[in-house]
Amino acid sequence: MEMKKKTCIAMVPCPGHGHLIPLLEFAKRFLLHHRDDFHVTFLIPTLGPPSPSTIAIINNLPSNIDFTFLPPVNVQDLHIQTDHPVPQMVLTVRHTLPSLKDALASLTSRTNLVALVLDVFSLEALHLAKELNISSYLAFASGAATLSFTLSFPKFDESFSSEFEFQPEFLDLERTMDVPGCDYASFKVKDLPDPVLFRRSGEIYTLFLSVCQKASLVDGIIVNTFNDLEPEAMRALHNGSSSRSVYAVGPIVAQPNQNQDEKIDECIAWLNHQPSKSVLYICFGSGGTLSQEQVNEIAFGLELSGHKFLWVVRVPNKIPNSGYVIGQKEDPIQYLPPGFVERTKEQGLVVPSWAPQIEILAHGSTGGFLSHCGWNSTLESIVHGVPMIAWPLFAEQRMNAILLTDVLRVAVRPQGEEDGVENREEIAKVVKRIMDHGNEEGLEMRKRTQELSYAAAAALTENGSSTKALSSLAHELLNKNL
Ligand code: UDP
Repeated sequence: MEMKKKTCIAMVPCPGHGHLIPLLEFAKRFLLHHRDDFHVTFLIPTLGPPSPSTIAIINNLPSNIDFTFLPPVNVQDLHIQTDHPVPQMVLTVRHTLPSLKDALASLTSRTNLVALVLDVFSLEALHLAKELNISSYLAFASGAATLSFTLSFPKFDESFSSEFEFQPEFLDLERTMDVPGCDYASFKVKDLPDPVLFRRSGEIYTLFLSVCQKASLVDGIIVNTFNDLEPEAMRALHNGSSSRSVYAVGPIVAQPNQNQDEKIDECIAWLNHQPSKSVLYICFGSGGTLSQEQVNEIAFGLELSGHKFLWVVRVPNKIPNSGYVIGQKEDPIQYLPPGFVERTKEQGLVVPSWAPQIEILAHGSTGGFLSHCGWNSTLESIVHGVPMIAWPLFAEQRMNAILLTDVLRVAVRPQGEEDGVENREEIAKVVKRIMDHGNEEGLEMRKRTQELSYAAAAALTENGSSTKALSSLAHELLNKNL
């Protein structure tokens, strides 16, 4: 008897771990619930050869997820004048379109390919879905508020009559944008994703605007959030379009590695010897960077606070997203203040560039997270009930920080910025606000984070809102195969 061919979905992440990881985790969760009906193939554009950490992530996939690295794009071929990740990601996908098209054509001939699932910065490939007559979905790796912003930004852009009105030097940064479902925040222009702060006729702004325009053209949207986390924004998204479904399927985050046979990581071995909830974990996502001055102030602030810390250190760079798509090669530890590592050897651990974040957040010794508020880090912290110090750097992180501090009240934010640098006294103060165990404010925050962690777990139970949304999505996809 001929085996029934499974329904196939092709997923195209854009370069960068912050985008690859959530798409992979989504695919894993989707197949966990619907493995008998579906097969997923990842077609992965890369800028330069895939990094060892990307290869390690990909090599651990279950057998019902295939992957193909598309021929790597050479950074020189992109002809971009900037290190900003938006042109790097969008143009990498644009340069990969011919090989992506071939890979999709081959999939169509061999499988029941019904849908192309794109990341927001791989929407460049949207027309391929139309050409192949398959459905297109946006897998949005950030939250509902940012999705709502993305869909409504083209209209906000139209409200500016001239190029000059949106030049950074003329822009009224205090002007607000009404983002549907986000009445709680009245986001100011300076809080919006950073590409909108660039010159309106420039490459970063125009590519970003075109991404936002394309986001409205897909057949359905999958968003990594859950109803109880962003109820108003989800309501606005459902009300915003009757023809297109929006599925809140999160929080989708990686599971801590339980493999007992593997060598215990240095960070986990160190955490194993620390008291319960005593350690502040510090990490700025997969590639966030700080200036040398700011690195120094954090180092001295940690010493002043007296609290334990585990710090993922990067080579300083004034451009906060400089290490985002293309990694760093130098040893970052040498950029810490002289004598810091020696002086703090009983107080903390510094690790270069990358640490097993999920395992660290899941560890009982971790009591706080100083984070750049990338959406994955935000969800991972909530899932594991860890209160945060919000330190947004770029992208939509300022919007996430407002949600965490003003709405959910599970994070504090340093206030004392001078010339763009937070000073050591302010850093020590915020560290104490969440880490001092006798501090009422910190205890309240810990309690609220724990409640959100329970709500996150509830959304993923069999009858939880996110599991039901995933089933509705599977149903919609299977119907396309009829
Ligand atoms: N991450 C990690 N170790 C690190 C830095 C990052 O495992 O040292 C993971 C983190 O757990 C998260 C992702 O990389 O899943 C970062 O995504 P996020 O959205 O927080 O930030 P981005 O990298 O997009 O700025």
